[in-house]
Amino acid sequence: MSIHEFFDFEHTLINIVFFAVLFFICWNLENIFGVTTNYKKWKHSAINFWFIIPGGILQGILGYYFLKFILIENSLNYGVIKYNTITQLVVVFIVLDLAYYVYHVIMHKFKKIWRFHAIHHSDTVLNVSTCLREHPVETIIRLGQYMVFSLLIGPAFWIIALHQFIQIASKIIIHSNFRLHDKVDKYLSYLILTPNMHHVHHHYKMPYTDSNYGDLFSIWDRLFGTFTYLPKEDVQFGLDAVNDKQAGNIKDLFTTKIFRNESKP
Ligand SMILES: [Zn+2]
Ligand SMILES: [Zn+2]
Repeated sequence: MSIHEFFDFEHTLINIVFFAVLFFICWNLENIFGVTTNYKKWKHSAINFWFIIPGGILQGILGYYFLKFILIENSLNYGVIKYNTITQLVVVFIVLDLAYYVYHVIMHKFKKIWRFHAIHHSDTVLNVSTCLREHPVETIIRLGQYMVFSLLIGPAFWIIALHQFIQIASKIIIHSNFRLHDKVDKYLSYLILTPNMHHVHHHYKMPYTDSNYGDLFSIWDRLFGTFTYLPKEDVQFGLDAVNDKQAGNIKDLFTTKIFRNESKP
């Protein structure tokens, strides 16, 4: 199977199985190397699994139309598809990563949409299941911007599929409850987003909540001054206005009843 074929639509199922296996591995690694041990993991994570339903439906519908549009573009030879594979890879990974950074900053800075993104941040223990915890409105905004920028760039379909594949794998890993050794983290975080970096983004207090916005690369945080570091022993997950009980109430989460961070405007 060639790399083109692997990231073909027919191989979506193989991709899903890969993510399920990666999820399972991270879930079990957390049990050995996890930083949070004093909590009931299954009970705590159960609520996050509910988000698979709206997330799966939206990804399926939007993904179907996205695929249609990008295949039409490809057949018309629109966009960077005219150039060689390396050029397409560089453009896709740089532009989509920067677009994600900007989108993430916007989700944090505007009160009306922060309330949706806050659902992701409200988890009081970060573990691999937190990567599923996304309000459906945010799923639409996130996928919407992703589709717009991808269609504007116009790369070969398989390059978008490759980008998404790496993006989802990274989301699973950075939300896991284990961290890299300080030295390894330090060097890796010059280029890519590490679990330690994203854990700081999930720290309950400002200014840490509003930092480390990156998706795959850490370069934008370094460039725009939003990179922060906090010793791993000091990181405490959640939001300062949300307690355990609220963070575990599915109705409150879907209706965005909890959305404030006391130290945020
Ligand atoms: Zn965030
Ligand atoms: Zn996160």
